[in-house]
This record gives sequence, C-alpha cells and structure tokens, in this order.
Amino acid sequence: MEITEKITNTDHEQVLIARDAASGYHGIIAIHSTALGPAVGGTRFWHYDTEEEALTDALRLSQGMTYKNALPGLPLGGGKSIIISNGKTANREALLRAHGRFVDTLKGRYITAEDVGTSPADMEIVRLETRYVAGLLSGSGDPSPFTARGVFRAIQASSKFRWNSDDLSGVTVAIQGCGHVGYNLAKFLHESGAKLIVTDVDRDSVERVVDEFGAKEVEPGEIFSAAAEIFAPCALGGVINDATIPELEVQIVAGAANNQLAEERHGAMLRERNILYAPDYVANAGGVLNGCIELLGWEAEHALRKVDGIYDTMLSIFESAHAQGITTNEAADRLAEDRLRRAV
Ligand code: NAD
Repeated sequence: MEITEKITNTDHEQVLIARDAASGYHGIIAIHSTALGPAVGGTRFWHYDTEEEALTDALRLSQGMTYKNALPGLPLGGGKSIIISNGKTANREALLRAHGRFVDTLKGRYITAEDVGTSPADMEIVRLETRYVAGLLSGSGDPSPFTARGVFRAIQASSKFRWNSDDLSGVTVAIQGCGHVGYNLAKFLHESGAKLIVTDVDRDSVERVVDEFGAKEVEPGEIFSAAAEIFAPCALGGVINDATIPELEVQIVAGAANNQLAEERHGAMLRERNILYAPDYVANAGGVLNGCIELLGWEAEHALRKVDGIYDTMLSIFESAHAQGITTNEAADRLAEDRLRRAV
C-alpha cells in the first residue's frame, strides 16, 4: 500500500491518501483534530469524479465530526475517511480490508465506523484488519435508530422554542429521504401524532413509510414547498441553499443530513425568513452517542439518556443564539469551539 501525506490549506492535523494496487483501493483519511481524544468518524463509500472532490468532502466532514463530538463533551476528536468507489463492487471485501489496513497504520489516532455507503456488516470486515473500528454488528450495531431518536428530540426542542409546546400531535412534518434515519424518524413522529409528508428517489423506501405510517407522498422536487410546519432533511447535504430557501413554507428546519446548509450564510438567510434552524451536527449526534457504548464503555441506558439530552442541548443553543442575536449555527459552532479551546 502506498500512502502519501497531503498538505492542505485548512487547519486539519493530518490528511492521508492511500492506494493499493492489488485490490484497486483508493482511499482518504482526514484527521481534523485529536485535541479532545482520538479522531472518530465514519467511512464513506461513495463515487467521486475526481480525488479532489473526495478530498473536499473528507475535509468538510471530518471538521464536522470534531464539532459534533466536542459539543456533547465527548473525549473524542474528529476525523472521516472515504473509500473512493470506482463503480465496481465485485471486490468490495478486498477494498474494505485494504481500508482496514490503512486505518490500522494510524494506530488509534483515527477510529472508524459506518457511514453513507457502508454498514455495520462492512465494519466487521474492516475489523479483520484493525481494532480501531466501532459500530460493529457485534457491538453497538446500526446507529440509525439512535440518530433518528436524537433528531426527534431536536424537533421537539425546536417546537418548544418556537411554539412553547413540544407536543407534536397534529403538526405536519415534511421528511426528505426515507432511508435508515428517515424511516425511523417517521416512526417516532407518527407515534407522537404528527402528520407526515414524505419523499424519496427510491420507490420502495417511500412506499414503506406511506404504507406503515399513512404518510402523504410528494415528488422529490416538491418537498421544499410542501405545506408543513417542519422540514426534516434526511437525505443529502447542501439542500438548504439559495434556490430552496425561498420555496420553504415551514417555520422549522430540523433533520439528520450532514452539512444541510450549502454555505454558512444560508443559516442567516433562514433567520431572515424567521425559520428556526436546528444545527445538523447537534440534531444528528444520536448515532455517535450510542457508539460510545463501544468507544467509551458506556452503559446502554446512559447512552440513551445522552441521546435524549439533545433536547436540552438544542434548547440552550436556541436561547444562546437569541440572546446574542446570532444564527443558531453560529451559536452551536461557538459552543463547540469553546469546548475545543478549553481542551488545548
Ligand atoms: P440512507 O442512505 O439510508 O438514506 C438516505 C435516503 O435518501 C435514501 O433512501 C435515498 O434514496 C434518499 N435520497 C437520496 N437523494 C434524495 C433526493 N434528492 N430526494 C429524496 N430522497 C433522496 O442514509 P441514512 O443513514 O438514513 O442517512 C441520512 C442522512 O443523515 C445522511 O446525510 C447522513 O450523512 C446523515 N446521518 C446519518 C446518521 C446515521 O446514523 N445513519 C448519523 C448522522 C448523520
């Protein structure tokens, strides 16, 4: 395996690129910060047109992990890795094993887990090559139900701040993406009496939510203007942007997707439209918190209490943003940066 270090003009601690001729592996590990502890963040298995594009994603996602882990006070830093998919899946196991060997070279400075394009079963394969991996089938398992629970708590906190009540019965929520997190979120919301409008580019995923929870389906392009009180992005990043913000009819945006704001300034645009934004990395930390069963030896009950604590964390971010006259994403960043500063 040939490993090269990449010098970036960002404040990342270390960025490595590896190629393994035998398996055709081409991967990236970006360590943003180990100030609070080993860098933790999942492995994304995705197609990118260029290495540069994958690198940009790795840099942004690993920085997000630093903030996500710092905010709830975890002794963990932020990192992320990417296996660049070349469209061929025949040698998937060989690629995952090569990735495990790459992770292992860092001797615990970086700990991986599942992410978009990988599963707990894939992490069992990575585990054959390194012990620096969490989210195993035999460990804390699929993080998605816990991520969804945390997003549900974030939605309740948003409702409390906006309408002084966290009772969601009769409230309409538009969910974009009915995958692992979106499905589980729909379940929590349905059980709480909320009405659902949903969309997905995958027919089976959307039909399941329509059938099981009586959700109304709309076309993917129609979800932004859906007649709902809350919009929950649970598909891809960058969906809150110049084109979509004017379309929104909702009063709250709170969902699971990473990097929902295309740019930081879109947080200010939401605020100008009087739309309350629940910062993504605060709302979607439930999976990482549950992963602390494996990473930090937490009891399952403690992990669940921490996931439910997203409600209080989110409320305090809203209050702090309101008091300082800044956006909610700025308030969350300041809190995370404050924790990081105090650690170094
Ligand atoms: P997933 O792949 O299971 O689900 C995503 C769904 O979105 C899929 O069903 C896909 O078909 C759909 N989708 C893609 N593009 C779409 C579009 N343009 N319009 C409508 N639907 C579209 O992924 P997931 O695990 O549910 O994660 C969802 C999001 O939450 C991702 O952004 C992920 O990074 C983030 N997240 C997930 C977790 C977790 O625990 N799984 C934790 C933190 C953050």
